[in-house]
Amino acid sequence: MSQDADDTRPDSGPPLERFEYVPESVLVVVAHPDDCDFLAASVLSALVRQGSRAAICLVTDGDAGSDDPSIPLGELSRIRLEEQRRAATHLGVGQVLCLGYPDGMLQNTLEVRRDLVRVLRTVRPELVITMDPTARFFGRGYINHPDHRAAADACLDAVFPSARDARAFPELLSAEGLQPHKVRFVLVGSGDGADVAVPVEELDLENQLAALGEHTSQFDAGPMRGHIWEEARRCGARAGVPLAESYRLFDLVPNPSQRDYRRREEQPAPGAPPPRRAASNWG
Ligand SMILES: [Zn+2]
Repeated sequence: MSQDADDTRPDSGPPLERFEYVPESVLVVVAHPDDCDFLAASVLSALVRQGSRAAICLVTDGDAGSDDPSIPLGELSRIRLEEQRRAATHLGVGQVLCLGYPDGMLQNTLEVRRDLVRVLRTVRPELVITMDPTARFFGRGYINHPDHRAAADACLDAVFPSARDARAFPELLSAEGLQPHKVRFVLVGSGDGADVAVPVEELDLENQLAALGEHTSQFDAGPMRGHIWEEARRCGARAGVPLAESYRLFDLVPNPSQRDYRRREEQPAPGAPPPRRAASNWG
C-alpha cells in the first residue's frame, strides 16, 4: 500500500474534539469475548484510573471462535469467558456479564433488546461504549462480523428508547423492579464517522495489550503492539494529545450548555465568556 493510500485511514483525518468527561459508570456492550479489548480497553483503563466504575457485557457466548475439533462444544465459551474476566482485571473492570446467545447466530431481536435493557437498568451506566452497527466493510481484508452489527444495533435500541421508557418491556419494572434509566453518553467505535478522541496514557495502552494477551485461545497479541501504539498516536495527533482513541459521540442530554467535555479544571468559571474552540462540532 502506498503512503498516500495509507494516509486515507480514519485517524489521518480532520481534528477531533477531545472527550475527557469521566463518567460515574461506564458499560461496554460487544458481541464476543475479546471485542471489548480491541474496542475500548485502553479507554476503560483510563476511566477506571480516574474513578469510573466499569462493566463489560458480552452478548454471545463466543463458542464458535475456534476450528479446533478437540474442544468440545460449550467448552470454548467457558474458556473465552475466563479469558475475558482475566483481561478485565488488567483494566480494573469490576463486572463481566454474558448474555449467552449463540456465537455467529446473533440477531437484533426484541429478546436480545430486552436482555440489554435489563443490563442497562441494573448497571445504570452514564456512558455506554459499543461497536458501529453501520460498519459493513473494512478495506479489502475484512467483512464485519454480523454479530458485531447485531449486538451494536440491539445495544443502541436498548439505550434509546427502551431503557428510558417505563412502558417498554413493562415486566422489567413490574416483576423485577428495574426502574427506567437514561444513558447520557454513547461512544460508538466508528472509524470513518469518529468525531471525538478520548485521551489515554502509555499505561492504558500497556493495560490494553495485557488484556489482549489474555485471549490466548484466539490470537497472539504480541505482534499487535506496534499497530495499537501507532493508531493511538495517530488519533492523539488529531486531538492535540500524545495518545487517544477515536469514537463517534452521542450526547443524549438535550442541553447544549452542558456540552463541554474537557476536564473539570479546564472548564471556565461560571459567568466566564465561552472559550473559543477551533474544532468544535457544536460551536
Ligand atoms: Zn467479535
